[in-house]
Amino acid sequence: MTTEIPKKQMAQVIEKTGGPLQYKEIDVQQPGPDEILVNVKFSGVCHTDLHALKGDWPLPTKLPLVGGHEGAGVVVARGELIKDLELGDHVGIKWINGSCLACDFCQQSDEPLCAKALLSGYTVDGSFQQYAIAKAAHVARIPKDIDLAGVAPVLCAGITVYKGLKESGAKPGQTVAIVGAGGGLGALAQQYAKAMGLRTIAIDTGYDKRKVCAELGSSAFIDFATSKNVVQEVKEATEDGLGPHAVLLLAVSERPFQQAAEYVRARGSVVCIGLPAGAYLKAPVFDTVIKMITIKGSYVGNRKDSSEALDFYRRGLIKFPYKVVGLSELQSVYELMEKGAIAGRYVVDTSK
Ligand code: NAD
Ligand code: ZN
Ligand code: ZN
Repeated sequence: MTTEIPKKQMAQVIEKTGGPLQYKEIDVQQPGPDEILVNVKFSGVCHTDLHALKGDWPLPTKLPLVGGHEGAGVVVARGELIKDLELGDHVGIKWINGSCLACDFCQQSDEPLCAKALLSGYTVDGSFQQYAIAKAAHVARIPKDIDLAGVAPVLCAGITVYKGLKESGAKPGQTVAIVGAGGGLGALAQQYAKAMGLRTIAIDTGYDKRKVCAELGSSAFIDFATSKNVVQEVKEATEDGLGPHAVLLLAVSERPFQQAAEYVRARGSVVCIGLPAGAYLKAPVFDTVIKMITIKGSYVGNRKDSSEALDFYRRGLIKFPYKVVGLSELQSVYELMEKGAIAGRYVVDTSK
């Protein structure tokens, strides 16, 4: 199978931190020996892409930068070392574009912790272009019966929340509070949790997100903006009033990171996943000790988490609201995201 690869393509380029984005024609790159060239069809828009544009994390991006790390597409060229991917195969470009595969962390399949990890749409160009380069060892293998638009958000949001739920230690039948439930990660978290036999309590704000969270299967919705007492309401939303067994913090706001330890159940875990700029965690030492609370971070997932997360999607267990717009409209997606006005995920179609 051969595919015609153009010399030029359309991409959304960040020329300087803070933007504006430039939608323009750029060169198509050639894959190195251990890389593939992917014709990206669809890419999800993650809040991390907005952090990259704003430059609000203590980690510099490459510049100029093509963002995007939820890219689903087709292999159109491969380096000479690649034997296990064929042209025409469907693959996913994830946040972890590559890692050394040799360091202490890579040896134990903790490749997100690799000091040499390449980050798609951050330290290397990502999926907001029609043709993107990725390390073959790390791309997600997407079975051909999966729709590429719907699966795109699984490539970061899905993998991340699935991993976070595993890290939480919550067991089937137990309850997890999803903070930031109406956003991209939050929508997927409710579906993964349900598929894993967990109950969920959703925390976010507004009518649209309340409606979405009810459809996604959460038993309660607590509106953080109008609630008189979030801590009390979260506890009351559990059957015995003792609070959720775990909390997944997905919000891009510091406040909930300083509140979760107050409502998590004794012996429960607080899993930090959202990355609000400049934020700090806070928990009362006394309560943390006598309630034996675990507070931890969780960062994307490894290759195995990725294939497992994809398999949940393939089996039809993960349904969530997403809207498809053209790649040319990415700036307007960021504007909605900045306002907190997106319930679920936006996916960009690179052909438009
Ligand atoms: P999003 O903008 O789609 O969703 C964030 C949601 O948080 C919104 O619905 C917003 O209304 C809600 N929110 C804001 N303040 C809140 C509060 N006080 N209480 C409850 N909810 C609140 O963003 P997203 O794409 O889902 O990403 C969320 C965060 O996760 C970002 O910071 C992103 O960078 C980070 N992230 C981390 C990892 C990781 O591996 N740890 C992976 C992907 C994304
Ligand atoms: Zn992401
Ligand atoms: Zn490594």
